[in-house]
Amino acid sequence: MGLIALEGGCHCGAVRFVVRTEERVALDCNCSICRKKGLLHLIVPPSQFELLRGADALAEYRFNTGLAIHRHCRTCGCAPFYTPRSHPDHVDVNVRCLDEGPGRFRIEPFDGDQWEANVDRIR
Ligand SMILES: [Zn+2]
Repeated sequence: MGLIALEGGCHCGAVRFVVRTEERVALDCNCSICRKKGLLHLIVPPSQFELLRGADALAEYRFNTGLAIHRHCRTCGCAPFYTPRSHPDHVDVNVRCLDEGPGRFRIEPFDGDQWEANVDRIR
């Protein structure tokens, strides 16, 4: 099984990362925050994610249960990755922040607006 290494980051360049994935598939979630931010989710174990720089450039935002740790760059506001409520021990990469963009990914809808009813499908 080969992993594809993809680099990405925020807009200003303060935050840079590498993510490794088996295939280019991302979830398009319609929950209250994802639909406003336009997040496309690639969820990987921590072993497949490396933060190259910018840990101190990130701000946190929590709401509702507080389990998800949303993060964004303090300078440019982009949200390259965060800790998702569905997988608190994984890393959720925003495919829109990959250098190659989302174009080569297969995008699958996730009805996060009905989170409790649907989350088991992606766990
Ligand atoms: Zn930035």
